Amino acid sequence: MSMKDHEFWLVVGSQFLYGPEVLQTVAKRAQEMADALNASGRLPCRLVYKVTAKTNREITDVVREANYEERCAGIITWCHTFSPSKMWINGLAGLQKPWCHFATQYNREIPNDEIDMDFMNLNQAAHGDREHGFIGARLRSPRKVIAGFWQDAEVQGRLGRWMRAAVGAAVSKSLKVMRFGDNMREVAVTEGDKVEAQTKLGWQVNTWPVGALVDEMNAVTEKEIDALMAEYTSAYEMATKDVETVRYQAREEIAMKKMLDREGCRAYANTFQDLYGMKQLPGIASQHLMAQGYGYGAEGDWKVAAMTAIVKAMTEGQKGGTAFMEDYTYHLVPGKEYSLGAHMLEVCPSVAAGRPKIEVHPLGIGDREPPARLVFEGHEGPAVVLSLIDMGGRLRLICQDIECVRPIMPMPNLPVARVMWRALPDLTTGVECWITAGGAHHTVLSYDVDAEQMRDWARMMDIEFVHIGKDTTVEGLEHDLFLSDLAWKLK
Ligand code: MN
Repeated sequence: MSMKDHEFWLVVGSQFLYGPEVLQTVAKRAQEMADALNASGRLPCRLVYKVTAKTNREITDVVREANYEERCAGIITWCHTFSPSKMWINGLAGLQKPWCHFATQYNREIPNDEIDMDFMNLNQAAHGDREHGFIGARLRSPRKVIAGFWQDAEVQGRLGRWMRAAVGAAVSKSLKVMRFGDNMREVAVTEGDKVEAQTKLGWQVNTWPVGALVDEMNAVTEKEIDALMAEYTSAYEMATKDVETVRYQAREEIAMKKMLDREGCRAYANTFQDLYGMKQLPGIASQHLMAQGYGYGAEGDWKVAAMTAIVKAMTEGQKGGTAFMEDYTYHLVPGKEYSLGAHMLEVCPSVAAGRPKIEVHPLGIGDREPPARLVFEGHEGPAVVLSLIDMGGRLRLICQDIECVRPIMPMPNLPVARVMWRALPDLTTGVECWITAGGAHHTVLSYDVDAEQMRDWARMMDIEFVHIGKDTTVEGLEHDLFLSDLAWKLK
């Protein structure tokens, strides 16, 4: 399912106290609100007005339907009038989809002359929202509260970004990850509890033999390779005469894509330590699969592969780009402090500033033939890096705000894609915070999500979230991590 296949349900809270006319007006306005929000172009998915709920039964019914209906990625509640919240308890206690409490009201202004007690009865969102908010707090329900006027672009944008996080949750719940080979030997951070990941996040992480991939590669036809080569040369600049090496990557890509699609997997991991029967580590093959929306993790890193797929699904249709990334080295010149991110091959070209070049260079590790890869520079702009780690008993998602720049030097002898950025609040504090929190060297780098969305997603998945941004200090972070550790042990 893609972004447009998901929808969200608008459930409006009310009661019988104000008479049928008020209820008709509420229903009419809820439909008007849904229509206007859909027409705004700021929501990635359709908002469907479902019901003006007045009874416990109506609420439990709509929640049951939302839980069951695959297309429904979440509910958005709004209280035009006062909606006594004990009638929400049974419904909310059983809700299995993300919930956003939209604290808005129909009118922007208090109408000076018009306002009387009839107006007050009909337009009492400020009143109703507090009752509705209490029951969310009392039930400890995971929820998002968005307050503001429904016609404002910023409010609509926030609602849209929350919807994208909820679609990320839906994608996560059905995500399948294909592992070719195990994690790189002796590496700790790429390990993790796959049962815990499936319980919390829904991920089905399983392994397939590299030999099965080699069989699939051998069955790829020259004609299939010709077609993919045409795609490569239309999207990228052929900067090598070694066409056979590039064709071998096309063969790898076609075979991997067939296996992924056959098994319904949106993400995969491989490792240079297990390429039995393969002549090259997949380079452009993995890069071009990522450009199509598949998640990828190197060295068997299935967690980063899955996160890359989820963030790509959340950001469908956006133009900034999302890539598998790795922190490599620093530039520590005062006033010009930057991190250089790259990988030995596999950075997604969705983050490229220009037209990527197809090049062939030897690879020092993996003991295979020189692989073809895409070489490019990442573009500038604000972005985040994300790392999901297994803390033992719980998962922690770390999100750091970064500011990407065009690389400040050409690095002509570096044969891989590269992205340069400065971590917030500044490079060294940012690094100290990241290391203190236990963030991995592998990350998802995205120009299209922000920390608020990832916090929303982590709340939906019921996992720990750590944000490192412009106001973070090492002391404050250590304090938060200490308390968080206690809290998660009690949960
Ligand atoms: Mn790596």
